[in-house]
Amino acid sequence: MRSNGSSERYTAEEIGERDGWLCGLCQDPVARTYRHPDPRSPSIDHIRTIVAGGTDTRDNVRLTHWGCNHERNDNTPLRTTEEAEERRAVLLRIPTLRAYAASLTAEDMVRSSQAFHSPERYQAKLAHRVERYKREKR
Ligand SMILES: [Zn+2]
Repeated sequence: MRSNGSSERYTAEEIGERDGWLCGLCQDPVARTYRHPDPRSPSIDHIRTIVAGGTDTRDNVRLTHWGCNHERNDNTPLRTTEEAEERRAVLLRIPTLRAYAASLTAEDMVRSSQAFHSPERYQAKLAHRVERYKREKR
């Protein structure tokens, strides 16, 4: 059981059906036949991370490739300059990051966050992971 927030019972199969077996990060199809630790295997991503107070409920999860989920880690896209300013305020309180945070504009932060979370970038990263996985399996 998760300690914070609510949770409900759901299965990866059910979320996969709901999401049309498309990855919520790279937008490519997810095949059910792959099994962990294959980076192409199906996995459940928490849109608002549990650490950030997200719930383990259907409305907060989506189907992703395991590799895309791993690539995302706990990084959440910045959508507005207000969100960027909030994140920057956090960075400014960390002495080693203060100068870096002060050099960024909110617009830059939103732009680089959007680039980080682009489907094309996730597709490229997943292709790399699959390549490495196949190489190591041999
Ligand atoms: Zn993916």
